[in-house]
Amino acid sequence: MFKLFRQWLDNRVIQRSIITDAQWAQAFYSLPLLSGLTGEEKKQLQKLTILFLHHKVFEGAQGFVITLPMKLLIALQACLPVLKLGLDCYSGWLSVIVYPSGFAPKRTVTDENGVVHYVQSDLAGESWQRGPVILSWDDTEFAGVIDGSNLVIHEFAHKLDMQNGVANGFPPLHANMDAKEWVTAFSTGFEDFQQQCSRGEPIDIDCYAASSPAEFFSVLSEVFFECPHILYKKYPAIYELLRQYYQQDPLTRLG
Ligand SMILES: [Zn+2]
Repeated sequence: MFKLFRQWLDNRVIQRSIITDAQWAQAFYSLPLLSGLTGEEKKQLQKLTILFLHHKVFEGAQGFVITLPMKLLIALQACLPVLKLGLDCYSGWLSVIVYPSGFAPKRTVTDENGVVHYVQSDLAGESWQRGPVILSWDDTEFAGVIDGSNLVIHEFAHKLDMQNGVANGFPPLHANMDAKEWVTAFSTGFEDFQQQCSRGEPIDIDCYAASSPAEFFSVLSEVFFECPHILYKKYPAIYELLRQYYQQDPLTRLG
C-alpha cells in the first residue's frame, strides 16, 4: 500500500517537472559519459534526476548562485551510479552544498599521540556521513567530460559506501554477490595499486586512490563510469564486481 502511494507521489512529482526538453538536451550534451545510455535508460535517469532535485536541497556557499542547469548537471551525474539501484541509496541526508571553487575548511584533528591540530587544506569535494555532499563548481562543471575523473561520481560513491557505516570501500552488496570475493579483489588491488604509486610507475588511474580503501572504491567508480577499458584492463576482477554492484556495463556502453 505504502509502495503504491509512494509511486503515485513520485509520478506526480515527475509529471509536474518544469524542466524543458531544451534544458534536458543541453544537459545531456554537456555530459558525454551519458552518451551510451539507451533511450529507456535516459528516460529512467531523467525520472531519478527529477526526484533527486525534488528531495535534495541545493545550497550555494560563499554567495554562489546555483541555477537549474547547474543543478541538472550535478543531479544527472549523481543519479548515474544509482540508475539501476534506485534513489533510496541516497536516503538519510538532505543537502548538496556547492562552492564556487575549491574550499578550505578548518578542522580539528587529533593525532595518534592525542595532540589536537587545527588543519586547513584545499578540497574539491567532500561527503559527510549522514550529512551533505559538498562540491566545488569549478571541479564539477566539466566533470562529465570523459577523462576518467569525475568529482560528482566520486563523492556520491562515498555516499553509497557510507550506507553501512563509515566509508571503507565496502558498500552493502546485493544478495547475489559474494562479500569474500569483493574483499579479496579490492584488498589485493589496493595493495598492488599502493605499491605501483609508491614506486612512481606511470598509471592511468589517479594515485589519490592509494590513500585509503574508501578512496580506492570512489576513484575506481569514477574510472568505471568514464574510462571502463582502463579499469577492465588493469583490474578485471574489480571491474566485474563493480559491474555487478552498479548493475551497469559501461564497457559495452562506451566501447
Ligand atoms: Zn574521496
